[in-house]
Amino acid sequence: MALVVMKFGGSSVADANKMKLVANKIIAKKDAGNKIVAVVSAPGDTTDDLLQMAEQITPKPPARELDVLLSTGEMVSIALLSMAIDAKGYPVISLTGPQAGIFSDHQHGQAKVEKIIPNAILKLLNKNNIVIVAGFQGSNPSGDITTLGRGGSDLTAVALAAALKADACEIYSDVEGIFTTDPRIVKQARKLDFLSYDEMLEMACSGAQVLQSRSVEVAKKFGVVINARGTFSDNCGTIIASEKIIKKLSGRKKMETLLVSGITFDKNQIKFTIVDLPDTPGVAAKIFGDLAKVGVNVDMIIQSAAVDKKNDISFTVTKQDVKKAQIVLDKIAKEFSATRVECDEQVAKVSVVGVGMRSHPGIAACAFELLSKNGINIEMISTSDIKISCIIDEIDTMKAVKALHAGFKLSKKNEIK
Ligand code: ASP
Ligand code: MG
Repeated sequence: MALVVMKFGGSSVADANKMKLVANKIIAKKDAGNKIVAVVSAPGDTTDDLLQMAEQITPKPPARELDVLLSTGEMVSIALLSMAIDAKGYPVISLTGPQAGIFSDHQHGQAKVEKIIPNAILKLLNKNNIVIVAGFQGSNPSGDITTLGRGGSDLTAVALAAALKADACEIYSDVEGIFTTDPRIVKQARKLDFLSYDEMLEMACSGAQVLQSRSVEVAKKFGVVINARGTFSDNCGTIIASEKIIKKLSGRKKMETLLVSGITFDKNQIKFTIVDLPDTPGVAAKIFGDLAKVGVNVDMIIQSAAVDKKNDISFTVTKQDVKKAQIVLDKIAKEFSATRVECDEQVAKVSVVGVGMRSHPGIAACAFELLSKNGINIEMISTSDIKISCIIDEIDTMKAVKALHAGFKLSKKNEIK
């Protein structure tokens, strides 16, 4: 008997009808002879609504209490889904994260899963129950409830699949899998059959919002094969696995047969520039050290060539971190007598992702040419061995995504022979 972990996102359990449909999907899988552990997110926008409720009380809710509040969203889902399954006459039981044996560290709001003791789940499965687990939560060493960061139910599902040595980990959402780009922007976007962990990580970090990136890291670490698929469709989704497994499953001789797998974009970016910093050792260390101390994640960094022993440093952060970054930078500008700090909110990041880049030079040049042909100016560039990202004017985002998707012929299977 196979053990399947199924995870359903918030939009899949947003109302009673959808909840019943999810119950039927779970039951069908159970009837096919599987043991089922289902992980669910909070219904619809519940987590955002709860955050707003807290904000109405105080701008700075204590982290512990915020986690107590946010964890209730997923509890609504597990209870209702279990009722829907029970109503069909199947044995079912719901468990909170702590009841399921999910133990995290102390970091409220961004807790890391430290260990999973799945004894309770295993016992219930052996008694023929369908087990429904609340995503996004665990308990810390003090026994307090924690949450695992936004989108954390994916992490719950993958971590449980690893701990239970599940035969399959299926992540259901309102999209049918991972696409070559956002199908709402490019109609010709194609669903990918396979994607390597590294490509998925690059795509998740560059704006594709299908899977939480930490869950992909955990999947990679423990070799959990993820099937990202649609709740409201019977099509097979996208398999996310190691390059070795993909070669086996797909029959591809080389992983690099796909030149480029996807184009992503991220409008959640802000560019800061500190103008006229002294060109002396220790300046960059101070800036990025101080930003790291307040928990600001910096993405791209550019330092201009020095003129008159002064240079400019530009870098990007996400919109959430703007206020924190601004405070740090104003202090630094004063300390180093910089001329000013500029903040450009009208920027976006577009990225081209694909393991094929490793063995095929010239993809970066091709991407730059496609952008230039469309009159799009590149403000910053960063690369890894499987990704090229460019910061551009936010206004050009859609044009850039369309140009890159068409230019790399992603609507067709662009296999290199
Ligand atoms: N409900 C949480 C969120 O919206 C966790 C999740 O959906 O995975 O971020
Ligand atoms: Mg959600």
